[in-house]
Amino acid sequence: MQSKKKKNILIKVICGSSVLFIGCILVVLCCVLMLFDFFGAKLTKEKVQNNLEYSDAYLLAVNNYLKDGYVPLQRLLYFHLEDTTLALETLYTMNQNKEQKTAREMKTVCEDQRVKNMVACTDTNINENKEYLEVSTGHFNLPLDKDFLITSYYNEQRTIFEISDFHSGWDLAVAAETPVYSVCSGVVEDVTFTQDTNVSYEISGNKIGNLITIKCNKDYEETYYVIFAHLYPNSAKVKVGDEVEHWTEIASVGTTGYANGNHLHYQVENSNRETIDGMQLIDFTLENSNTQFELEKPHDKYYDDFVEKQEAQKYYDELHK
Ligand SMILES: [Zn+2]
Repeated sequence: MQSKKKKNILIKVICGSSVLFIGCILVVLCCVLMLFDFFGAKLTKEKVQNNLEYSDAYLLAVNNYLKDGYVPLQRLLYFHLEDTTLALETLYTMNQNKEQKTAREMKTVCEDQRVKNMVACTDTNINENKEYLEVSTGHFNLPLDKDFLITSYYNEQRTIFEISDFHSGWDLAVAAETPVYSVCSGVVEDVTFTQDTNVSYEISGNKIGNLITIKCNKDYEETYYVIFAHLYPNSAKVKVGDEVEHWTEIASVGTTGYANGNHLHYQVENSNRETIDGMQLIDFTLENSNTQFELEKPHDKYYDDFVEKQEAQKYYDELHK
């Protein structure tokens, strides 16, 4: 009797502790799985910022499909991190509303069979990643009305002139002296033309180059500052204090200052002068009524320049490994 009681207690202890043991194992397993994003691809600032390995694929996608609406890289990464077999280009068109020329709402994207059953499409995950997934559409027009090639996107992790940084704006490569337009209704805040020859930083040593800043406060409740940089020497068509409208011609494209080819650096800052993604403010349905709007596949010439630049960058990276 006595020994049977002892045995029962012993069984209870063993069973109790193995339940505890199994419980512990499950908790540890859950933690490990969470660490590897098993329960969903939670985006972090780090994942969005360490984007070097996605640059080439993203630039290709954005150059091919931007005219039908802008989709930021983080939106693509949100799905791609959970299923790497989904290419950025595929995800770009999946996230695009071609009729409205905007990014689709998340719930619409998640109706697609290819992503439908992903953890990324659960309400919890969408809510947790809200700050990266929301796409705003403003009513800026594009600053150019000619074909251009995007050679660098906002927040791109890159190395230019041996300095690593995150790009503060968008680089739109196009021929020298292509007209640059105001993107909003506002007031000219700054016109700084420090360079009177159209040569790059390596030759001039001039970092600032020629730039114009427009304070956009007429068609928004919030104020934005838009900086147009590397402008062509003596091309300013406005002065400080001038009022501008959408599509007011303000200057033309050059390669002055911190640049290595003719392109427009388009940078947007909020009212606290913090840089934000300026492409998110562009309404791609707004056309320049004065000229024929064309945004097609870039000319081969710019593409060649671009490929050369990429090759040079890869060579540089190899050397500095
Ligand atoms: Zn730039």
